[in-house]
Amino acid sequence: MQNEKTFVIIKPDGVQRTLIGEIIRRYERMGLKMVALKMLVPTAEMAERHYTLDPEWLRKVGEKSIASYKAKNIPAPSDDPITLGKKVLTRLVKFVTSGPVVAMVWQGAHAVGIVRKMTGGTEPLSSDIGTIRGDFVLDSYQIADVSDRAIRNLVHASGSVAEAENEIKLWFKPEEILNYRLIQDAILYDVNLDGILE
Ligand code: ADP
Ligand code: MG
Repeated sequence: MQNEKTFVIIKPDGVQRTLIGEIIRRYERMGLKMVALKMLVPTAEMAERHYTLDPEWLRKVGEKSIASYKAKNIPAPSDDPITLGKKVLTRLVKFVTSGPVVAMVWQGAHAVGIVRKMTGGTEPLSSDIGTIRGDFVLDSYQIADVSDRAIRNLVHASGSVAEAENEIKLWFKPEEILNYRLIQDAILYDVNLDGILE
């Protein structure tokens, strides 16, 4: 379980806000181990493939958006999740290809769930304080829809172990993912604490 991996992208807004170090620091101090890292400007093809790896994503993203409008008692721009999802995809491709991003693989026990928790909910307006999206950015579904752009929420993080596996395969070659031991792995995972006292 301590080898669970998750995929993270610091999106163009995170790079432009000079938050690369802050974001990495947060995952790192949790005890997660960085096992792959690269900076690049994604192509439109990569961005689109990334978001359509899960054939259900279009519908899910549309449903989430509609639910968020409902919760705030504001009419959604459309009642059809797929229509909304397609719009979001177009906006996202434009956003993610607009400049450099930092792509990473983080490893550790429950890496997927822990990183999602630290990253926070999709919409910065309602993501919890203490999370990356809740602490450093102030966007919302509403502002994004009015301006016909993607929600700027600094980070992408895989939503499930299966999603992580597919995303890692898309963004990294197997040899780019490093297998190594950190000294701190012992205090995080070893059954025995032998070796602490001299
Ligand atoms: P998450 O990144 O939290 O997993 P999703 O997978 O549902 O969220 O959506 C992917 C990304 O698409 C979000 O992080 C956000 O940048 C953007 N997004 C989602 N819904 C909308 C929307 N209704 N309008 C604009 N951008 C959106
Ligand atoms: Mg997602």
